[in-house]
Amino acid sequence: MTLVTNHLPTAELQALDAAHHMHPFTTGDELNAKGARVITRAKGVYLTDSEGNEILDAMAGLWCVNLGYGRPEMGQVAARQMNELPYYNTFFQTTHVPAIALSAELAKLTPAHLNHVFYAGSGSEANDTNLRMVRVYWAEKGQPQKSHVISRKNAYHGSSIGSGSLGGMTYMHAQGGMPIPGIHHIGQPDWWAEGGDHTPEEFGLARAQELEEKILELGAENVAAFIGEPVQGAGGVIVPPSTYWPEIQRICKKYDVLLIADEVICGFGRTGNWFGCETMGITPDIITIAKGLSSGYAPIGGSIVSDEIAEVINACEFNHGYTYSGHPVCAAVAMENLRIMQEEDILSHVHNVAAPALHAALETLGEHPLVGTVNKSGMMASLPLTPHKESRAKFAGEGGAVGYMCREHCFANSLVMRHVGDRMIISPPLVITPEEIEVFTKRATQALDATYKDLK
Ligand code: PLP
Repeated sequence: MTLVTNHLPTAELQALDAAHHMHPFTTGDELNAKGARVITRAKGVYLTDSEGNEILDAMAGLWCVNLGYGRPEMGQVAARQMNELPYYNTFFQTTHVPAIALSAELAKLTPAHLNHVFYAGSGSEANDTNLRMVRVYWAEKGQPQKSHVISRKNAYHGSSIGSGSLGGMTYMHAQGGMPIPGIHHIGQPDWWAEGGDHTPEEFGLARAQELEEKILELGAENVAAFIGEPVQGAGGVIVPPSTYWPEIQRICKKYDVLLIADEVICGFGRTGNWFGCETMGITPDIITIAKGLSSGYAPIGGSIVSDEIAEVINACEFNHGYTYSGHPVCAAVAMENLRIMQEEDILSHVHNVAAPALHAALETLGEHPLVGTVNKSGMMASLPLTPHKESRAKFAGEGGAVGYMCREHCFANSLVMRHVGDRMIISPPLVITPEEIEVFTKRATQALDATYKDLK
């Protein structure tokens, strides 16, 4: 067996990686030209790479390490569970204590009517579950034709063929076969990029009313559900105008269309409440969870459904499930994550300390000549870059080149800030301290300054 450890030189690790490891959302050319960054350790909000750089992770991995890295309790719980019961499935009338405990805890934390969890290994799988479950729900209620699902352009709901179809990423759809039939996309509530001369409130209302138009076009009797992220994450942290979600909720109720809130990013404190639907004041029928459920320490996701949906689904046999649905080690790790979040009152830290400090930092960054505005909700934010703030102008070309430049300057300054097109994205661990936010601000300013200089 080849012995590959942290002790190998970076170039050797990168060469092996480029030769044998296919990466998501990365080209082979990128890997061959520069090699991948090799991350070797992490603690708190800092990553260490194979060159010994200490990098502030303002993305919490992929929006998921809410508790921060390196909490030993999480590893201890995982080890204990692996030794006691490393695996058993939850098919065919079988269960185990980690899945029971986590389900009961989630039922306590979610809004009152959401009390039933169907587990998956990821957010993508959970959204596939949702797609199948809403169809079975309506079929069981005698309306099998009520099967179409409406989503939004530029939404992200995962990478499987079902969840990728629910998503509205054209660059994913362009790679063939997506969206699958029965899925439709309406406009996103992105006032900064698409609102023109409308006020944000007018625009939010207009974009929500596209849902009504689409339902009427398809026929309400054919529409099973609408799915949306309370705040679009991977689309660029698009915080909808205040008029948007109440109107969506009204329309869903009026036409008997189920509302699915994809809380994969927004859930577990990211927007300042346990769930983004609380922040947005909506009452969904289903929420999708993953990422912050285990703070990314173990792969686990799920769908939490209303009493009414569970009653219908439980009355039939739902022919659906994953080998790792409710995996005992992942469930135990998720439970430990929820225990720490509650015992350490991470939400109060967000409210009283982290979000105020982050928002003040973002206001400072918002004054930079390259930054068009600050989009923020709790501990997620984006800074759209622009050549001209007042007119909300975009850079020439397809978009993304300036964001990429800025991201590279972030890395050069030991900071992870991802870019979506020409927007810089911020979603740090919820436990970040004001001192660490000062480091973030300094490094982000250096990266913005360097990008600005490159453009001159
Ligand atoms: N839904 C949302 C809102 C997401 O942001 C993501 C991932 O970023 C997913 C679903 C897919 O989750 P996963 O990558 O765990 O499959």
